[in-house]
Amino acid sequence: MKITIVYDNCLAKAGLRTGWGFSSLIEVENALPLLFDTGADGATLLYNMKQLSIDPRQIGTIVISHAHGDHTGGLSDILKMNKDAEIYVPASTVATLPGRKVITVSQPIQISESVFSTGELKGIEQSLAIKTGKGILVVAGCSHSGVGSILDAASCYGKVYGIVGGLHGFRDFSRLENLSLICPCHCTQHKSELRRLFTDQYIACGAGLELEQ
Ligand SMILES: [Zn+2]
Ligand SMILES: [Zn+2]
Repeated sequence: MKITIVYDNCLAKAGLRTGWGFSSLIEVENALPLLFDTGADGATLLYNMKQLSIDPRQIGTIVISHAHGDHTGGLSDILKMNKDAEIYVPASTVATLPGRKVITVSQPIQISESVFSTGELKGIEQSLAIKTGKGILVVAGCSHSGVGSILDAASCYGKVYGIVGGLHGFRDFSRLENLSLICPCHCTQHKSELRRLFTDQYIACGAGLELEQ
């Protein structure tokens, strides 16, 4: 599988734009590309997609982690270009997208052959658990529900080996000890401590980062 960071506060590839928010594209075998979150504004999202040669019309699934504007802001612009994608939102989200199929997620569910949602945790947010040859890779938006509860929920799909995404104020660092990939993005407040504690596992996040697993 391949995950590309499309929208982030930091930059990993020259020529892209940064902005407060998060979006990533997830490509796995036997499924159309999945867009996880849409950043804060459509112009930046679509600009970065163009630079990364991502065609918004090819996206088959859009998953929104939670209903904060820095994750949903680009959705309406994407939907203008993409009429067919299935949309998954956490159940607490009030989604009014006339004419679109919106799946509200409360319990853990399978989205494609190798992509699963943790279900809505703590009444606010869902994260993804992706099955790879190395185990489960977790992709999180802001982790408002707590990194520990996300890792616990994802563990029902297999052994978690890595996490990518916004970790917010998370500092229960021992929870990450058994992971081999730690890529804190967006709202993560303790990036420098994570980098220091997990030097070998740490990958710096930024718009344009591509991880192949
Ligand atoms: Zn948030
Ligand atoms: Zn956020």
